[in-house]
Amino acid sequence: MKILIVGNGARESAIAMKLKSDRRISKMYFAKGNATTDLLGQNVYEDSIEGLRDFAIKERIDLTIVGPEAPLVAGIVDEFKKHNLKIFGPRKRTAELEGSKAFSKKFMQTHNIKTANAVVFDAYQAAIDYVREQQFPIVIKASGLAGGKGVVIADDLAEAESTIHKFMIERIYGDAGIQLVIEEYLRGFETSIIAFSNGTKLFPCIPVKDYKKAGNGDMGPNTGGMGSVAPSPEFTEEHQRDFEENILKPTLEGLHSYKINFKGFIFFGLMVTENGTYLLEYNMRLGDPETQVIMALMENNLYDVIMDCLEGNDIELKFRDEKAVCLVMCSGGYPRQIETGFEIRNIDKVSHSEVLFAGAKTRGNKIVTSGGRVLSLVATGETYDEARKKVYVDANIIHYDYEYYREDIGKF
Ligand code: ATP
Repeated sequence: MKILIVGNGARESAIAMKLKSDRRISKMYFAKGNATTDLLGQNVYEDSIEGLRDFAIKERIDLTIVGPEAPLVAGIVDEFKKHNLKIFGPRKRTAELEGSKAFSKKFMQTHNIKTANAVVFDAYQAAIDYVREQQFPIVIKASGLAGGKGVVIADDLAEAESTIHKFMIERIYGDAGIQLVIEEYLRGFETSIIAFSNGTKLFPCIPVKDYKKAGNGDMGPNTGGMGSVAPSPEFTEEHQRDFEENILKPTLEGLHSYKINFKGFIFFGLMVTENGTYLLEYNMRLGDPETQVIMALMENNLYDVIMDCLEGNDIELKFRDEKAVCLVMCSGGYPRQIETGFEIRNIDKVSHSEVLFAGAKTRGNKIVTSGGRVLSLVATGETYDEARKKVYVDANIIHYDYEYYREDIGKF
């Protein structure tokens, strides 16, 4: 069996690590991959949908798994299906649940999914008039994909007006800002839940806590993720029931009523307030760094559950009754200006955690930094503290110039 994995982050490295011991898999290809995937299979320097399609046909790929959102929103699944290539992920139309915040908010409102009150705007003046009547803070979102930068929490009217101007008139994120979603600010803590879809049902994984801010104590700018912990420690059984009843169930009903029977992953970005669990967003894919801790605790064979979902079979997900912690090591300066190309030393001395590369590539027999988020360290333990100590012991062993990581991941 040959597998193609699209993406190049630690999320894709975690998928690869999970699949690598499956003897049925003869070869794994990664587009474009990273240092981990280079060691586990073959990196393919191709990222156009047509190029990937031609590669999958030529190499007789049996299954393609897509990590990032951009190829999904661009229609990679539609293209592969046209050529009878097996691929796990939503079609372009379904990926709009992530690609268009206006569409996903309307979907949530239509299907009574518990979410923040919001209004969608296509016209600049109407958006300005609206915020003049509102209380602050208020959340302003560019509808399209803006690399995680299209959401601003405006603390006052001046900030709200200037954000609307930047998004709609200056178009700082291009067409992503043509439509805006302006929504009520929710105060609480965030949790991510990823579910497998087999076309008719959704099967949720354990809840994950993700650390978005660059600095200790959740200070500094938003990032792609500085670490994660599973299961999410603050997310109680009552929150889970609220999620299943008021978010998961109506989402499935909504998908059915739109005749969407996609087979892939759906990610629920949740905010838990004193009034319960609210849905902030859908992503139609696995999250990073959520995937790293989910894969660390998942007992199922990943290939089997994906194939079962593709065949429309029910699955029973099982997770070890332990805790997992993922620490992301970065290039200093991330998410802003960074320098790369530095050798990552002492990888062979790491003994407590799994090393999953992201922004790192092989150069001769060395591994060097090549991006903002360089690698993830993942460990499990009976307690959060045990798992946490393991990743930090190893983070102290690994060295490269300008290394940076948060010191409070998994500390409660
Ligand atoms: P991501 O980069 O995680 O994909 P995104 O850019 O697609 O995010 P959202 O997840 O909708 O957009 O929002 C990003 C972040 O903004 C959230 O993780 C949350 O911290 C904050 N946020 C979004 N909506 C609200 C809200 N209604 N109230 C409070 N905070 C919010």
